[in-house]
Formats: sequence, C-alpha cells, structure tokens
Amino acid sequence: MISSDFQGDSFGNVTDMDTIVSLCKRRGFIFQSSEIYGGIQGVFDYGPLGVELKNNLKQLWWSRNVYRRDDMEGLDAAILMNRWVWKYSGHEDTFVDPMVDCKKCKGRFRADKLSESQCLLNPKLHPGECGGELTEPRNFNMMFKTQVGPVADEDSFAYLRPETAQGIFVNFKNVLDSTNRKLPFGVAQIGKSFRNEITPRNFIFRVREFEQMEIEYFCRPEEAEALFESWVQERLDFWVNEVGLKRENLKLYEVPDNERAHYSRRTVDIFYHYPIGWEELEGIANRTDFDLGSHSRQQDQLGLTAQVIKNEHSTEKLTYFDHTTNRHIVPWVIEPSAGVDRGVLAVLCDAYDEEELENGEKRVVLRMKPQLAPIKVAVLPLKKNAPEIVAMAKAIKDDLQRGGRMRAVYDDTAAIGKLYRRQDEVGTPFCVTVDFKSLEDRTVTVRDRDTMLQERVAVDDLKAYLLEKLGL
Ligand code: ATP
Repeated sequence: MISSDFQGDSFGNVTDMDTIVSLCKRRGFIFQSSEIYGGIQGVFDYGPLGVELKNNLKQLWWSRNVYRRDDMEGLDAAILMNRWVWKYSGHEDTFVDPMVDCKKCKGRFRADKLSESQCLLNPKLHPGECGGELTEPRNFNMMFKTQVGPVADEDSFAYLRPETAQGIFVNFKNVLDSTNRKLPFGVAQIGKSFRNEITPRNFIFRVREFEQMEIEYFCRPEEAEALFESWVQERLDFWVNEVGLKRENLKLYEVPDNERAHYSRRTVDIFYHYPIGWEELEGIANRTDFDLGSHSRQQDQLGLTAQVIKNEHSTEKLTYFDHTTNRHIVPWVIEPSAGVDRGVLAVLCDAYDEEELENGEKRVVLRMKPQLAPIKVAVLPLKKNAPEIVAMAKAIKDDLQRGGRMRAVYDDTAAIGKLYRRQDEVGTPFCVTVDFKSLEDRTVTVRDRDTMLQERVAVDDLKAYLLEKLGL
C-alpha cells in the first residue's frame, strides 16, 4: 500500500495562483476563452508561449512513452463516438458528481467540494455559510451532449468524450490486428476531453475542456498488480526526472474504495502541491477487464436494453488469442492518465521564482527545463541603431532556427537589461548578445538564465554549443 499521508506542510517553491494567472495573461501563455464577450466559465485558450510549453510537455510524454519503449503504439481517436460506447463503458449511468443547490443564492455546487466553492452572494463564504439551506445532493452527469446530423431527435445525439480512454478500448482489435502485438503492450493517446464540471475553478486546474495524455497498458490478469506498481514508479519518475518537477512537491495517494471510479480495482493518484493545496495531477488505475469485457459482451447477455438497441451495440469480441494456452482471454488494463493542463500548471508553479538582485531590483525567472521552455534562445543586439550589429544578430537568429530544432527570437524593443528580464520571466534558457566586439572577432555573449553568468562563444560554434546545453 502506498502512503496517503498529506499532513505537514513541507513543500518547495509554491507561489500564489494570482501571480501565475497574471504572468500567464501578461506574457501570452494562457487567456480566458472568448474574453471579449465576457468569457466562458471553465474554458481557456493557450497563447503564443502557452502553446509552445504545452506542445513541449506533450512531446516529452510521447517521446518517452512511444519512441523510447518497445511495447507501445500510438493512436489518435475521434472525439465524437457512437453513443453506445458511453452506455457500455458505464459513463451514462455512473459518470456523475453529487450536486446541491443553495436555496438563498440559487448557486449550484459540487457537494463533495463545498470547501473549494464560493457562495454567490459573498465569495468569502463557502456554500451554506450565508445561512442559505442546501438541498439534498443529487447526481449530475458530467458528459456534454451534442447533435449529430440534421435531424434532431432522441436517437441523434452524441457525447463529447469525457476521457480519451474509450477511443483506445474500442480500437483494441484494430490495433492488435494491424500490429500483431503480443501481451503485454500499451496504446498511448493525447487528446481533448470534455466534462461539464459543476464548479470549474482554479484557473486551468479544473476546466470543462482539457487535454489528457493516456496510456492503456494491456496485460494478462496475473501480471496486472506488478505492472501497476511499476507504472506508478515510472510515472512519478517522468514528472521528476523528465519534466523536472521538484520531488518534494509530488506525493502518491492510494485512493480508498469509496473514492474510486466505477471501473477501478485500484487507483494511485500522483498529487502535486499546487498553490491551492495538494491536488491530483495524474491517476494510475487498474481497470481490470471492465472496459474490454463490457464492450465485448454478446446481445443475449445484455438483457432488455440490448434487445431494444438490436445490432447497434458492440458485438465485436475485444479478446486476445493466447498461443501459450490456446485460449481467448480478455486482457486486463493498467491506465496511467495525466492531465496536460494540470501538467502545464504544475510546471509553471514549480518553475516560478523571484529573486532580489544586487542592485535591489526584483528578478522573476521561470526555471523550467530547457526542453520545456517556449523560447530556447533570444538573440539581442546591444545597440538597435547600429545596422551592422542588427544585421548580424538577425542572421544569427535565422541560422539558429534553421532546421526547426529550436525556437529562437530576435528582440530589440528595449534596453539590454530589460530584454534579459523579459526572457527570464518566460523561462528562455539562453540569451545571445551581439555587440561591437562581435563585428571584429565573430564572437557573441551567451547568458545563462539561471546563473546569469556570461560566456563568449564563437558564432561558428554557437548552434552546436546551444543544442548541447539545451539537451536537444
Ligand atoms: P478530479 O478528482 O480532480 O475531478 P478525476 O479523478 O475525475 O479528477 P480522472 O478521471 O482520473 O480525473 O482523469 C485523469 C486526469 O485528467 C486527472 O488526473 C487530471 O489531470 C485530468 N483531469 C480530469 N478532470 C479534469 C478537469 N476538469 N480539468 C482539467 N484536468 C482534468
């Protein structure tokens, strides 16, 4: 069993959420969606720097799980699926959160998250604390419905998927037949999911449209427990050593029986110490043969509902032929499921640092891993009114980004000190400064984001030097 102890307050560099939100907006990481129309609750857009950071995080995950393993395939299933998928996955009946209404402020709140919610009349109070009576909790299904095709009737709706996992389960046979994989093997997928959260809040932590990075790892039942344990360690290792989150900001949480999803025999969550407290970043679940078994069941076992829907439910057996025993088996599944947006938020919170410089000025710096940084290098001319320096700086920038291995930018819109601060604040690992000496000896100054130390490097060696330092 994994320790579920969340007492104590030892954590690394946690800043407050407002600071992160304002940095994200000011520097173009994340914006409220449809802001010019007053926004839409629980939906966010990634700006020029945010999309780079998010793509870099997804790339790290994909590279580690698909390219650097021999037992994994990739998939990109559609968001819209046949509605019966969600019936037989159990989501139509059980993907619910308990909801209460306040009879005074008329607000609707998640009954199990009242301490995270604000009263509509007085945001300093939690629901019910305003003296308003709360109704008994009732179940609210979190799946969004949409209309498919031109005829709107009871049978023409579909759900926006609330998890990417089902796209992998229903394609199990397709992947197996087209790749000839042997157990154990996994299928990895990154994509959008949608949940009509009752109270979306805490910036991109709990939103209605988000992205997941999910693996369904298929195995024999007798292997499942050991594989589960090793996946928990593997995923923790990813966040610490690949993404670079501080170990003291991560904890494992053994999810008790009464909190687990309907399909899970065992779940361990990886919690991150966000500014709002310890919260789930990723969940690793042992889904047993629940999903493949459920989608495979024959009509006559499905009872009344199946007779009504006749041939529309899955009759395709999602089984695996085991040559060692000459039997068909329904594989068990270990599922590591991480949220991209919660990953981005953890990276931003973990990387954020403020320090006082010798001259008394404050420096904000995002100390994130170079592989994650939206901009890898900024090329800055010491004097923007010296045409030869400007021309040389622009040529260096063009050369660095040629080949597409790193995002380089040129900036001459402020004095050099201010330009450095701007790049520190968005996590750019290196600044290259072109000065008069550069014109004479073709060397430039390379400044390190974290140490602020400067080194003189020959222009001809610059690209190789940076690629090595960036780990690209
Ligand atoms: P929570 O208990 O916080 O609602 P969950 O246990 O329902 O999360 P899962 O169903 O295990 O979440 O989903 C896997 C991952 O997807 C989560 O660990 C999280 O990173 C991400 N995720 C789930 N719901 C949301 C959401 N509303 N907004 C952002 N990310 C989410």
